[in-house]
Amino acid sequence: MLNKSQTAAILVIILAAAAGALFVMKRTPSADFAYFQGNTMGTTWSVRLAGPVPDSAALAVIQNDIELLLQNINREMSIYDPESIISEVNRLEADVAMNVPETLYGVMRFSLDLANLTGGAFDPTVGPLVNLWGFGPDGAVRASPGTDQIEAARSRVGFEKLKLPESNVVLKTRADVYVDLGAVAKGFGVDAVAEMLVARGITSCLVEIGGEVRALGMRKPGRKWRIGVQRPNYRAPSGSGLQGVLHLADMAAATSGDYQNFYVTDSGQTLSHIIDPRTAAPAGHSTAGVTVLAPDCMTADGWATALYVLGPEAGLPLVEAQPGLEALFVIRENDQSFREMASSGFAALADYEPAGLETGK
Ligand code: AMP
Ligand code: MG
Repeated sequence: MLNKSQTAAILVIILAAAAGALFVMKRTPSADFAYFQGNTMGTTWSVRLAGPVPDSAALAVIQNDIELLLQNINREMSIYDPESIISEVNRLEADVAMNVPETLYGVMRFSLDLANLTGGAFDPTVGPLVNLWGFGPDGAVRASPGTDQIEAARSRVGFEKLKLPESNVVLKTRADVYVDLGAVAKGFGVDAVAEMLVARGITSCLVEIGGEVRALGMRKPGRKWRIGVQRPNYRAPSGSGLQGVLHLADMAAATSGDYQNFYVTDSGQTLSHIIDPRTAAPAGHSTAGVTVLAPDCMTADGWATALYVLGPEAGLPLVEAQPGLEALFVIRENDQSFREMASSGFAALADYEPAGLETGK
């Protein structure tokens, strides 16, 4: 818990521009690629297709279909859209079963499983606390919430209050339980776009939403996709400082951190948009960012948020126990310098090159 002086009035509000903490390395020659981009989920999306590029009519169809797919995902999962299905779930009375689409059910199932695996460090019902601390649809706040408000919001939080009694059915044990899938929705969207492209016969592409990425195939024969991990300096624009470079093929990566969407209190404390459900306050420790590798992007995205809450001491043993999962923690020593702590297979799985040591492969 934060003490009284730490929770003193918030002076500065910095809400990040939509940048991602992972970025595609600029050295990638654009002429060999088809490139699309657009806006979704309060951020940007981009897709690069490598190899034999489809003709312009086919490209226009693909771009349109990506837009439609992302719109459909938002209609199911956006808490910013009062007409979305998740908003309907959030208005649902207690103990009333509601049918939901298979896709939304799948994301909720994943979220509850991750909540169990992480002892509640990840919690899809944490939304009332996210809102209370000024990081949700209710918008920013200028003062830290009071103890009564925190306790009231906390009583609504707890993943055991969200039930999935049978396939494609959801139920809440309290009417005021509020589901926020913001920690996994981008990753889910990346996977959905990637799967659609694969179904159209595309074998080499890089799909990205807000810095969460999934690489399929290679960017050219023998060359993996190069992804920069941003150095987690506060307020740094995406791509402005490099922590290291990942080389990905048939793999996803996601990052969570405290340096893109945060407040600074008058006592100089930084509060991030990731809430530790166990303390009901923004997660606060020396971890500046966590980058996770996984076979799919929803898994990488969800674990990145969870591991940010847990920190390296509690998080790394969990990562080591999960097949196919690797993580890099970037620890803030002071404003200028950082230290890395990684799971045992991280460097090898991503051909990781710390900044300054890149070979440009
Ligand atoms: P990400 O940027 O993927 O780490 O997701 C951050 C978003 O996830 C926040 O803006 C909240 O909407 C939500 N969130 C915050 N804390 C948690 C948590 N402990 N578990 C699950 N979702 C969270
Ligand atoms: Mg996440």
